Amino acid sequence: NKKPKIVILGAGYGGMMTASRLQKANAYQDAEITLVNKHNYHYQTTWLHEPAAGTLHHDRTRMLIDSVIDTNKINFVKDAVSEIKTDEKKVILENGELEYDYLVVGLGSEPETFGIPGVNEHAFSIRSVNSVRLIREHIEYMFANYNKEEEKHDDYLHFVVAGAGFTGIEFVGELSERVPELCAEYDIAREKVKIYSVEAAPTALPGFDEDLVTYAMNLLEDRGVEFLINTPIEEVTAEGVKLKGGEEIKSRTVVWTTGVRGSSILDKSGFETMRGRIKVEKDLRAPGHDDIFVIGDCALIINEEINRPYPPTAQIAIQQALTCAKNLKALLAGSEKLQEFKPDIKGTVASLGGKEAIGLVGSKKLFGTTASAMKKVIDNKYLYQLGGMPLVLKKGKFNVF
Ligand code: FAD
Repeated sequence: NKKPKIVILGAGYGGMMTASRLQKANAYQDAEITLVNKHNYHYQTTWLHEPAAGTLHHDRTRMLIDSVIDTNKINFVKDAVSEIKTDEKKVILENGELEYDYLVVGLGSEPETFGIPGVNEHAFSIRSVNSVRLIREHIEYMFANYNKEEEKHDDYLHFVVAGAGFTGIEFVGELSERVPELCAEYDIAREKVKIYSVEAAPTALPGFDEDLVTYAMNLLEDRGVEFLINTPIEEVTAEGVKLKGGEEIKSRTVVWTTGVRGSSILDKSGFETMRGRIKVEKDLRAPGHDDIFVIGDCALIINEEINRPYPPTAQIAIQQALTCAKNLKALLAGSEKLQEFKPDIKGTVASLGGKEAIGLVGSKKLFGTTASAMKKVIDNKYLYQLGGMPLVLKKGKFNVF
C-alpha cells in the first residue's frame, strides 16, 4: 500500500520548522513528504529590515534549504505555487503540479495596501531577500546620484517610511544608523538627508507600552527621524507621497510597511479569508478541510482574552509548526485526536538599530542594550531549534554588547 503524501507549501518559519520536526520524528518512514518553495534557500523574514537598510548583508539572513533539511528524507521542490485545487487534492505550481493527502500551507504574507493608489507601482516593500536587496541598492544609488548633477535634487535624499508599526520602526532604526555612513561615503551633509516616519494612527507602535514608545521615538528623533503621526497617506506617486489635507512630501524612496495580509494564493484558491488569512480551527486545520493545515501569516487565530486576532508573528508561526507536525504524526498513526494550538507569547522585542532596542518580556520592560541583547538571544534560539548548534555558529548573532 502506498504511503500518504504530505505537501508543505512555503519554507518560511512555519514550513521549515514543520519539515524539520517531521524529519526529526522520522515521519518520512510513514509518509512521502515534499517541501515546496520559490527559492532554494530559507530566509529569516524578521531580519529583513537590516539588509534593507544595508546594515547586514542579505546572505546572513538566508541559508540553503538542503543545508538544514535532509533531502533524502524530505523531497524538496523549488517552484512557485500558483493555486491549490482542494476538490482535486492538488497543488498547481508554475512548472508542474503535486498531489497531496495532507497539505500544510505556510506561504506567508503580502503587503497590505488598503487600496491606496500608487503603492504597488511606486513603493518598496520589506518582504523577501530580493525586495530588500533592491531597497539597499536603490538607497545607495540615490546617494551616488545626488552629487552627479549641478542642480541638486533634494528628493533623492528624502526617505519616506509609511507605517510606524513594528516593521516600519525597525527599518527606520536601521536606516538612521546607516545614513551617517552613507553621508560620509558620498560627500553629503547629514542635514540634507530626511527620514520621515509617517503613521495614520494616533501613535507610533500602536499597541506597544507607552514608556517603550516614548523611548523609541526620542531615540529616533535624536538620530534625525521626523515623525508624522496621525497623518494618513492618500496616494503614492513617482514624485513622493500625498498626505491627507493636501501636503506632499517629495521623495524617490517610499518604503511601505503598513502591515500584511495573507498570501493571495488563498483567495485565488477559493478559501474564505479575512485580510487574506484563513480563520483556522483549534487544531490548525482550515474549516471544512480535514486534510489542510494552515500556519504562520496565512492563519488567523483569535486572542480570546480580548476577542481580537493575534498579530501575525514568527513566534506564533514557529509554535504552530510544532503543533502541526505533531498533528500530522497523529493522523499518520491513525489517530483522530489532534492537539489544540495555544500560543505562548513570551514577549516582543523591536530593534532600533545599532545596539538599541525596546521590548516587553513577560511584564518586564527592556530598553537599550539589554533589549538588543535579548533580541539576539531570540534570533539565535530560533536557529538552534531549526538546526542545532552548528546552525547557530554559522548564522547566529554574537556581537551582543
Ligand atoms: P514567511 O517566514 O514569510 O515564509 C513564507 C515562505 O513562503 C517564504 O520562504 C516565501 O519565499 C515562500 N513563498 C511565498 N509565496 C510562495 C509561492 N507562491 N510559492 C512558493 N513559495 C512561496 N515576528 C516576530 O515574531 N518577531 C519579530 O521580531 C518580527 N520582526 C519582523 C521584522 C520584519 C522586518 C518583518 C517583515 C516581519 C517581522 N516579524 C516578526 C513577522 C514575521 O516575520 C512573520 O510573522 C513570519 O515570517 C511568518 O512566518 P511564515 O512562515 O508564515 O512566513
